[in-house]
Amino acid sequence: MPRQSRCFFAFLFLILLLVNPIFAQTTVIKAGKLLQPQDGSVAKDQLVLITGNKITAVGAQLSIPADAKVIDLSNMTVLPGLIDCHTHLADGKFGEGDPIFQLRKSASQTVLESVRNARVTLESGFTTVRDVGVYRALNDVALRDAINRGYIIGPRMYVAGAYITITGGAGAMTGTAPDIQLPWDFHYAEANSPWEVRQKVRLLAHDGVDHIKVLSSGAVLTHGSNPKAQEFTLEELQAAVDEASHFGLRVEAHAHAVEGIKNAIRAGVVSVEHATLIDDEGIALARQHGTYLDMDLYDEECIQEQGRAGKLPLDFLEHDRELGELQKQNFRKAVKAGVKMAFGTDAGVCDYGTAGKQFAFMVKYGMSPMQAIQAATSSAADLLGRSDEIGSIQKGKCADLIAVQGDPLQDVSLLENVRFVMKDGVVYKQK
Ligand SMILES: [Zn+2]
Repeated sequence: MPRQSRCFFAFLFLILLLVNPIFAQTTVIKAGKLLQPQDGSVAKDQLVLITGNKITAVGAQLSIPADAKVIDLSNMTVLPGLIDCHTHLADGKFGEGDPIFQLRKSASQTVLESVRNARVTLESGFTTVRDVGVYRALNDVALRDAINRGYIIGPRMYVAGAYITITGGAGAMTGTAPDIQLPWDFHYAEANSPWEVRQKVRLLAHDGVDHIKVLSSGAVLTHGSNPKAQEFTLEELQAAVDEASHFGLRVEAHAHAVEGIKNAIRAGVVSVEHATLIDDEGIALARQHGTYLDMDLYDEECIQEQGRAGKLPLDFLEHDRELGELQKQNFRKAVKAGVKMAFGTDAGVCDYGTAGKQFAFMVKYGMSPMQAIQAATSSAADLLGRSDEIGSIQKGKCADLIAVQGDPLQDVSLLENVRFVMKDGVVYKQK
């Protein structure tokens, strides 16, 4: 056989090995209880078969291949990998207070500090995140790609690339003197008209982002910004949603202010982030449009704690006053009204790896434990447009599974202590 065709057949065999599941290692998980958020069911003594990175079968009576690797979680509750729909993993070390301190570091320092954020997020049970903006544009793209290529460990990341914001607005780097020229990546996606918004969406689509983040109202953690004030106009938000649709991208909107929330819903965003001051009309609109609310219920505790420790600027604490309590009451109203809810923590406001603490808050303010888990699994996957891949434990889905000791439907805070984590068929934690 000529040398060339020998190489060709060797190559063909390798391809066969890679694509044919009969050659790949099969793993079997024995689940004491299996929680299925897509239908709210819990089944006892289930088996989950995994080949490569995919789930191939789920059931009580499955034949286990002789050479399968068995993972015994028969004393645990197994559920799908959790999804946090509002994180900022690529902003570097946690707890540096004023965002302006970002200017003390290079972009590469910041993104390398973020390696820990990605690892502890995955190890705490969150196998997927929707990362919704970064101080230094495209650091999140770099972090996502490093995880996907296996250079570092972290959750599956869907990233925004930058904040699309008005100049001086919620997503801008503010607080410097007017004559200071910021590096390009600190104001990459500032836009001040519908056409500028479209231009930024086009740039970000070209940069390979997975979704678009716009800031519809002022923010708590930004100098010179008022969370109760509208920022983008309805016309600008509509431009974002329309332009993003040309690239198959969904848009999420940060909004605390009443009108900022309603404008975002009317413009057709897929989710409103924070939704702090949503009123009855906003709740009715969200129901009518099928818009998700992604309300970060527990990070207020961290803002106040950092405030007491003198680690946060006083104007941020002033912005935050009363908003936390109002958000919790409005969360309760929205849950009661049957608005679609997703799980998002604003990770980075509290330390990375602590997002599981939000489950108890969601239950305290009106959700059942199953609803809170659905918000972080099946509903979150729907919000991301990825229900065919993640958010449930079913044949053909990515093998993203976690386990806790005990019954999270009795005590949802068990999700703060995830004992087993598998992402894409690889075990990252087992204790
Ligand atoms: Zn945020």
